[in-house]
Amino acid sequence: MSVFSYLTDLRCSRCDTRYPADVVQGVCSCGSPLLAQYDLTRLAAESSRAAFGMRAASLWRYHELLPVSREENIVSLGEGMTPLLALPRLGERLGVPALMMKDEGTIPTGSFKARGAAVGVSKAAELGVRGIAMPTNGNAGAAWALYAARAGLRALIAMPEKAPAICRGEVAAAGAELYLVRGHIGDCGRIINAAVARREGYQEVSTLKEPYRLEGKKTMGLEIVEQLGWTMPDVIVYPTGGGVGIIGIYKALGELVELGWMTGPLPRLVAVQASGCAPIVSAFQAGARESSPWPDPHTAAFGINVPKALGDFLILEAIYRTNGCALAVTDAELLAAQREIASTEGTLICPEGAATVAAIRILRERGEISDGELVVALNTGAGIKYPETLEATAPLLEPDGQIPGPAKVNSR
Ligand SMILES: *Cc1c(COP(=O)(O)O)cnc(C)c1O
Ligand SMILES: [Zn+2]
Repeated sequence: MSVFSYLTDLRCSRCDTRYPADVVQGVCSCGSPLLAQYDLTRLAAESSRAAFGMRAASLWRYHELLPVSREENIVSLGEGMTPLLALPRLGERLGVPALMMKDEGTIPTGSFKARGAAVGVSKAAELGVRGIAMPTNGNAGAAWALYAARAGLRALIAMPEKAPAICRGEVAAAGAELYLVRGHIGDCGRIINAAVARREGYQEVSTLKEPYRLEGKKTMGLEIVEQLGWTMPDVIVYPTGGGVGIIGIYKALGELVELGWMTGPLPRLVAVQASGCAPIVSAFQAGARESSPWPDPHTAAFGINVPKALGDFLILEAIYRTNGCALAVTDAELLAAQREIASTEGTLICPEGAATVAAIRILRERGEISDGELVVALNTGAGIKYPETLEATAPLLEPDGQIPGPAKVNSR
């Protein structure tokens, strides 16, 4: 019988200590994230990448490289295999004709947090966890609360009072136990951590404090190269908060190379942040291996409002090792980009995703993206989850009013 998952154990990302994967694990005793390890030698001998292509269009087509050990333990809402869209009109404007967008706006729960939640919740349930607990800026809480409901697990969620109202509503609708905190995500984290210590059967699933959310998010990297006919793009541009996506994509592509199923070089990985919260950018500019906490973080792109990421050293490693970079864009730039993408390409994306397009414009102007390079922008969520960023002004007509003619043909 074939093996469903080639997971072997967990390895500390900082000190290399190994941990068994058949019981619930958090972080290493040194405080750093644990990374799932797979028997890639055996997988390479027993299968090939062509096997993936014959399966259903969901992230579970990569089950050998995911941690869930039995198919019947999968908790799914149909996540994954989101479109990789060509953006020819916008690409023309930016001088990047081969511009593409991996569009996570179509995924269950409206953001790519669904990938981490699907895999994280599935594995937690498989290991006998009865409730998950997390601090969140919004989208992760919504995704984990909904997947927990799907799995029949309890969910305990704390989010800043100022987090988007829609995420609060999603968590409440999912029947989770929700607390609002007069503070930021770090304060929520302390409150959750203390609560979990007093509750039996609950696991804390904060960003990178359990190993499997990363495995779910790494499937974006697998999908991008499969959708490109098993070739690497030149550049992948990612809106970075806690960095799970960029670390995951780097891990996934590394695993494919190690399997001998792809050859390098890896794409240059670019971390985009908002200028109101750019700890990774400032570390990159200093050539540092870790970031310092960003004071007074703020941006309309709420999902990347993370002042200090636990995995900052892993984000920076992914950037340095792939010859990538980190850069910040202003809220004005990213909100303008959000409108530009909608009006040129018809995709209404989230402000975080729009930040990547603003960044691509800057990189092209600086010559850091060359002629003809294939650039993939990662849109991490649906624009309709951010109604407050979508102002509309329109003339108000009386019931017997008239629209001034003659019709103007929209020229671009
Ligand atoms: C969480 C989030 C991000 C940042 O993801 P990380 O993996 O934490 O870097 C980006 N965009 C959206 C919409 C998010 O919800
Ligand atoms: Zn360690």
